[in-house]
Amino acid sequence: MKFKDMPYERPDINSLEKEIEKLIERQKNAKSGEEQFKINKDFYKLRKDFETAYNIAYIRHDADNTDEFYEKENDYFDEILPRWSNAYIKYNKVLFESPYREYLEEKLGPVTFKNMELDAKSISDEILPLMQEENALTSRYDKIIATAKIEFEGETYNLSLMGPFARNKDRNIRKKANKAISDWFMSVTDEIDEIYDAMVKNRTAQAKALGFESFTDLAYCRMHRNSYDKNDVANFRKQIKEHFVPFVAELAEKRAERLGLDKLEDTELGVYFKEGNPNPTGSPEEILKSGQKMYSELSAETKEYMDFMMENELFDVFGRKNKAAGGYQTYIPNYESPFIFANFNGTSGDIDVITHECGHGFQCFITRKDEIIDHNSFGMETAEIHSMSMEYFTYGWMKNFFGERYKDYLEMHLEDACTFLPYGTMVDEFQHIVYDNPEMTPAQRKEVWKKLEVEYRPYIEFEGTEFFALGGFWQKQLHIFDVPFYYIDYVLASICAMQFKVMMDENFEGAWDKYLELCKLSGSDYYTKMISQVGLKIPFNDGVVKEIVKKLRPLAGSNK
Ligand SMILES: [Zn+2]
Repeated sequence: MKFKDMPYERPDINSLEKEIEKLIERQKNAKSGEEQFKINKDFYKLRKDFETAYNIAYIRHDADNTDEFYEKENDYFDEILPRWSNAYIKYNKVLFESPYREYLEEKLGPVTFKNMELDAKSISDEILPLMQEENALTSRYDKIIATAKIEFEGETYNLSLMGPFARNKDRNIRKKANKAISDWFMSVTDEIDEIYDAMVKNRTAQAKALGFESFTDLAYCRMHRNSYDKNDVANFRKQIKEHFVPFVAELAEKRAERLGLDKLEDTELGVYFKEGNPNPTGSPEEILKSGQKMYSELSAETKEYMDFMMENELFDVFGRKNKAAGGYQTYIPNYESPFIFANFNGTSGDIDVITHECGHGFQCFITRKDEIIDHNSFGMETAEIHSMSMEYFTYGWMKNFFGERYKDYLEMHLEDACTFLPYGTMVDEFQHIVYDNPEMTPAQRKEVWKKLEVEYRPYIEFEGTEFFALGGFWQKQLHIFDVPFYYIDYVLASICAMQFKVMMDENFEGAWDKYLELCKLSGSDYYTKMISQVGLKIPFNDGVVKEIVKKLRPLAGSNK
């Protein structure tokens, strides 16, 4: 069914809660594992209906922020989501404590039960008011960022529209844009500090109420980190610092040389070439068409997927007034339909939508017939492997998008992917320090960030821009506010995607088969087990980061 024809009806939370209560009663009275499994199918139906309605409302709200109907629906979901999660977790608790656990584990998989255990620890009736307050705080931060009005060269822009100026090929324009962004952040930084301070205290209070030592432990549970812990992550950060930071410093030196500079300043953060970054050559419509052609050549599975997406109009990617910023992939279960939302703006970011977001969508599509929907609740460290690896698997088609500058694009893509890792890891360490020390003042938090910049990005000079020199850069990073501790997942996934890159350079078909196998595994097993099964090395383990740096060095054209 085409997206525009999908019907929408608001789910009523009061009757949903009653339905779930009834299911709980039926589960408690069930006489066998088989019977419980059957009742669980009714629960799955309820879940799918709810997720279908939620995603349709969410997408339609993003597609047109002036639509009053979906604005109300969106507010309604914001309000009821904690109640839905709570009811859902209560239901799962009954399954978790089932006398027929062995049979159910056999059918639903051990990871499902491990995640139920983590969920049960993560929520209680008592903390619902705190969770609602936390949601309100994130909305406050999001609103400040979304409604930013930045004066620049006689016009007013929001933050995302300032992006292209900050990456302009003319260094003077970049400098001015950077200053305008910095000035704007200086005008709101006290308020953002106040919001973040309240968030840290709120999240810490939630953790304490649930019996955790700190919010970090609670966040790990909420993110279903079921096969590694914070010590593994700390060991991973240590390896990034040791091996990736010096490697990226080499790349920064090479980039400065290419740009004709002695040293990179923050002005160059997103700039790779003196003549500007390569942009796609075609119109938005042509980009989608080239994408369809590319996926029809890559494999039979990707062809089927992309044809389905186009036929059912599951892309909303062209820029339009009143459309929400950003881009994402989501899934509408009742119609077995992935959906991709974005705002094409003529930069290489448009191609990332076709590679990265389509990678997420592809994984959803090929597992759409999996009856056990719990298999879809894998962590982002797994999900981002599907998307980031697709970026590499499609390297061979970039000529169709970038014309004669396709080599520049590939150089930029790999350099950018490598350059991201120290930053992503720094964002993680920052949050660990913040939540280990919830009593820190806003000024102390900025000092922490400044210190981390020196450790992770010594090759960039931040002193020229007031807000960055103050240690405020992290206030731009919405994940720190909206989805705490999520960020390292990108880094972990990136290390795996880079392993696929190395693998495909040796044997493309073989690497593709392994990738497909990983996609199909979905979340049926633990992260560490699944990646090992398809021949990837676990990023936390000693030596893995070192080895990947060794393999990437010649590919990224480092001078060393
Ligand atoms: Zn992604």
